Amino acid sequence: MIDTTVAVVGGGPLGLAAARALGVIGLDCVVVDAREPEAAAADPRVLALSHGSRQILEWIGAWKGLDANPIRAIHISQRGRFGRTRLSADELGLPALGHVCRAGDIVAALRDAPGGGVSLMHGSRVEGTRCEGDAVVLALDDGRSLRARLAVFAEGGIAEQEGAILRDYGQHALVATASVDRPHGGLAWERFTPEGPVALLPMGEDYSVVWVVGDDEARRIRALEDDALRDELQVRFGGRLRFESVRIHASFPLALRLRRTPAGNRRVWLGNSAQTLHPVAGQGFNLALRDAWELAEFVRREPQDPGAASLLLRHARSRRMDRLATTAFTDALIRIFCARGAGIAAGRGGALLALDLLDPMRGFLARRMIFGARAWP
Ligand SMILES: Cc1cc2nc3c(=O)[nH]c(=O)nc-3n(C[C@H](O)[C@H](O)[C@H](O)COP(=O)(O)OP(=O)(O)OC[C@H]3O[C@@H](n4cnc5c(N)ncnc54)[C@H](O)[C@@H]3O)c2cc1C
Repeated sequence: MIDTTVAVVGGGPLGLAAARALGVIGLDCVVVDAREPEAAAADPRVLALSHGSRQILEWIGAWKGLDANPIRAIHISQRGRFGRTRLSADELGLPALGHVCRAGDIVAALRDAPGGGVSLMHGSRVEGTRCEGDAVVLALDDGRSLRARLAVFAEGGIAEQEGAILRDYGQHALVATASVDRPHGGLAWERFTPEGPVALLPMGEDYSVVWVVGDDEARRIRALEDDALRDELQVRFGGRLRFESVRIHASFPLALRLRRTPAGNRRVWLGNSAQTLHPVAGQGFNLALRDAWELAEFVRREPQDPGAASLLLRHARSRRMDRLATTAFTDALIRIFCARGAGIAAGRGGALLALDLLDPMRGFLARRMIFGARAWP
């Protein structure tokens, strides 16, 4: 039996960030990950990190040295229709609206972050948990057990049988790299089309692309040759940029899942294992980092027992508004911007135009995406 104060299930970017945040305040943490170390560091997803996420990564010592590409402005529009809005870092007085990083690089930075108290077990899967007095015991697939005061779940998803609300979007996100005909200058694009949004995020000299399509379309598009693939993206995105080459790295099925009870019995679920969101607007990991940071804040204020029922209940309550508002916001974006019909498209165009003309509304939306619930008045 291995004894620790906190056991973290999942060694992806969130599990490691949660362990580092708890390590910074002096707790011993053991992170158990089913994958081997190379697998997490090879994660092809590219994450747009908000300014608030950057601050959290700085606090836990994982920002310095991270290959982070600044987003200076975002252009939001719908293909073939009027109306667009542009958010810029300058108008908010920030150096950048956010930064784009490879998920694998974030994992590596978190593993190398300074500070003791965090140890990693790779290639072991947690198969069950049970409460024993004031501890929780985790059973591993290799026969070993881990005893902790608190188990933090950061497994990256929610199984269907775990009481989550589910909406299958019938879509896949294709993750790709694209080169275009001009320097991006830190400008990101969110382009809504009836088939799904296309996001371009500045990454090195190129763009990292999150291209959302229907399930059947994803299979067809993945089978295209290079030139046909480039032409397909050009048609989907429209003529505002000219694509020179496109390469697809991975594809993810998209669904909305929300765990009804994200804490209890010395266990707490964070990030994707508490809520799995559509990647539109890049909110999943940003929300997850806020979940993890606030947990560490609660434990810092009451360090006697990190798994105490009252502490976990208060953490769940304090996270409720941010979780539900971010979930509802991303789901509404997909419902509104994927709905077909000329009247609906005109309404969306009007909303984008109004957003562009009304500085306070634009500032409010930007702050909400950058800081989460902290931005509510
Ligand atoms: C296409 C796409 C684009 C996205 N873009 C953005 C973005 O721009 N911004 C943003 O904020 N978010 C974005 N997201 C969301 C973001 O990718 C996720 O929130 C984040 O990567 C999840 O990290 P994680 O550590 O929770 O999970 P994962 O990276 O999935 O890691 C989970 C780990 O848990 C381990 N594990 C699972 N079960 C067990 C077990 N029983 N025992 C031990 N280990 C276990 C797995 O091996 C894995 O290593 C995007 C998502 C997608 C699909």
